[in-house]
Amino acid sequence: MADTEALDPRFRALVPAEARLERLIDGLKWVEGPVWFDEAETLLVSDIPNNRMLRWRPGRGVDTFRQPSDFSNGNTRDREGRLVTCEHGTRRVTRTEADGTITVLADRHRGRRLNSPNDVVVKSDGTIWFTDPPYGILSDYEGYKADSEQEGNFVFRLDPASGELRVVADDFDKPNGLAFSPDESLLYIADSGISHDPAGPHHIRRFAVEGAALRDLGVFAVIDPGTADGLRVDRHGHVWTSAGDGVQVLAPDGTLLGRIRTPEIASNLCFGAGRLFITATSAVYAIAVNTA
Ligand code: MG
Repeated sequence: MADTEALDPRFRALVPAEARLERLIDGLKWVEGPVWFDEAETLLVSDIPNNRMLRWRPGRGVDTFRQPSDFSNGNTRDREGRLVTCEHGTRRVTRTEADGTITVLADRHRGRRLNSPNDVVVKSDGTIWFTDPPYGILSDYEGYKADSEQEGNFVFRLDPASGELRVVADDFDKPNGLAFSPDESLLYIADSGISHDPAGPHHIRRFAVEGAALRDLGVFAVIDPGTADGLRVDRHGHVWTSAGDGVQVLAPDGTLLGRIRTPEIASNLCFGAGRLFITATSAVYAIAVNTA
C-alpha cells in the first residue's frame, strides 16, 4: 500500500506523490510530543511509558535527552525558542531554560493539582494554552494512578507574565492536541474521549479566539478511524491531524484532502526542515512535505 493517498487534488501540492515514509526511531512503547529545533537540527520526542525523552539528529541517530522525564507528553517551544513540556508524572507544565534548568509554569488550578497536562501550544503573545485530560492519572502506565482534583478536564490559558491560569474550555470529554490557525484567530482542539468510551468523541472542535477567551464554533471534523490526538496547522491553514490510520490532512473548511499512512496508530506530528515528523505508537517517521 502506498504511503500516501490523495483524496483531493490539493493534497499533492502539500505531499508529493513520490514522498516516502522514513523510519527514524523504533522500539518505543508509546511515543508522543514531537518538537523540532531547527537551529540545532534536533527532534525531541516523549516515549511516555518508558519515562524518557529521546533526541534524534540527522546523521547522528538517536540518544536519550532526559530520563526520567516525569512521564513527559506534549512538547512545544515558546517565543524565545525554549522547550515547553507537559508532564504526567508531576502533573505540570514546565519550561526548560537555556542552561537546562527546569521552571514550573503551572501545576495547580485554584489550589488543586492538575490532572496530567497532555499537549501545549504557545501563542505569539507568549501565552501558553494547554489541555488537561486524565490519561496520566488513570493508571500507572503513563504516570501515577490518582484521583482527579479538578472538576473537569479543562483547556487552560496561562499568562506566564502574570501567572494567571484560566479555564478557556470546560466541556470536553478528553481534550488533547491543539493548534492555532496561522493568524491565531482560530484555535483547533481535539477531543479523544473515544479512547476510554466507544461512544465518546473522536473529533476536532474549532473556536474563535477572542482575547483571553474562546467562542465555540462547533465540531470542525470527525476523525475516523481512531481519533485526533496531536494536530498542527500549516502556514496555509490546513489542519494535519493524527488518526488511527496515520496522518489526515484537512482543508480549512474541513474537507479531507488526503492521508499519510503509518503502520501503527499515529499520536502526534510536527513540521521541520521540509519534513513532517510523525510519532506513531512504537516508532517515529519522517516524510517530505511542501509546507511548514
Ligand atoms: Mg496527546
